[in-house]
Amino acid sequence: MKYISTIDNRKHYTLSQAMLEGLAPDGGLFIPETFPKFNASEFSEKLTYSDICYKILKPFFAGDALINKLHELCRLAFNFDVPLKKIDFSTYIMELFHGPTLSFKDFGARFLAACLNELTEKKITIMVATSGDTGSAVAAAFYKKPHIDVIVLFPNGQISKRQQQQMTCWGENVYAFAIDGTFDDCQRMVKSAFSDAEWQKHNHLCTANSINIGRLLPQTCYYAYASLNLFKQQNIEANFIVPSGNLGNVTAAYWAKKMGFPINRILIATNANRVVSDYIETGHYQPRQSIHTLANAMDVGEPSNFERLIKLFSDYSAFKKEVVAYSVSDDQIKQTIKKMFSKYNTIVCPHTATGCWARERVDDGIWIIAGTAHPCKFETVIEPIIQQKIPIDTALSKMLDRKSKFILIEPKLELITEYLKKH
Ligand SMILES: *Cc1c(COP(=O)(O)O)cnc(C)c1O
Repeated sequence: MKYISTIDNRKHYTLSQAMLEGLAPDGGLFIPETFPKFNASEFSEKLTYSDICYKILKPFFAGDALINKLHELCRLAFNFDVPLKKIDFSTYIMELFHGPTLSFKDFGARFLAACLNELTEKKITIMVATSGDTGSAVAAAFYKKPHIDVIVLFPNGQISKRQQQQMTCWGENVYAFAIDGTFDDCQRMVKSAFSDAEWQKHNHLCTANSINIGRLLPQTCYYAYASLNLFKQQNIEANFIVPSGNLGNVTAAYWAKKMGFPINRILIATNANRVVSDYIETGHYQPRQSIHTLANAMDVGEPSNFERLIKLFSDYSAFKKEVVAYSVSDDQIKQTIKKMFSKYNTIVCPHTATGCWARERVDDGIWIIAGTAHPCKFETVIEPIIQQKIPIDTALSKMLDRKSKFILIEPKLELITEYLKKH
């Protein structure tokens, strides 16, 4: 299998190269040149989740250095459950938050960490900008990996206390920086490090943001898995709703559909950052400053994976025909959290709530909402709404006991360079 850039499709890369480089040399994002095709009948009931992942990911690793290790890497990375929780007769929540840091980011981060650890002998530095959950998933996944240092940048004061604790409680090879700015500032700093010759000379930089294809590919597997389960039980194609920010997770859903898994429609739910909804309405893609919302891990004004998503459609009208996006306000998020609790006795996080809000606006068929984070990470938002304490997951309580350490700086790359020189 060969990989190309979203900008220049003439040059070919192996998957290992694409994972190590993160961003293509021409500034585009790596995508597979073609997609393998699967049929539901190829998947027997007896396969475990990590076996299914192996089967799906294998063609993507064809000809790659990691192919012989792939089964083991899948077993290492995907060692937690992916339950499908029934809400009513036509709605499910696919709970993607049972990994070590309680968000779907654990799937991609753990798989990428397992792969990169196999691939490098020299020291590499992972630099990652985070709007909430990426930082913790990446920090946890790469913690104590011998050849890898991790630099996490998060917007100071814009993430939940527990999210912050989860990414600042590590130490050792993990450096956490609180940036006095927005997520977009963090992302800009990462980009400028990548284009800075001085940085490149001293560190082999690598990204673990969802621009890294090593994170996206494993995310296709849970859409495949849930749709196969539904198809086997009810002989019906699943529809998915994906709470979205940087558009990585929803791109993975479209990739799973392209591979032939029994998926019908895919909807995007966003918070008040409505750049995709506006694109669908107007045909103009207009990136902007991100707005701070209750669903903070989706506070993205310039979604990186937009260029991967539009590659799947021949032009704007094809995109508009297929892609539907709902932008959900903070008030609507609060109402939905309340309603999900009172009507269905289900506690949802503010991100998942955007998906639940969108679910009420569509009919026909069975809908699976991607449950992107565990509600106990967002207790300060949810508890006042439902007037009840949320039990803390044991994975989180272990991290809450650890000491937190981070460095607060202005959004300037030189300040990170200076700090690292001293330490
Ligand atoms: C990252 C994240 C999202 C958004 O996912 P994208 O792939 O960036 O669109 C949604 N919900 C939660 C909880 C997240 O951590």
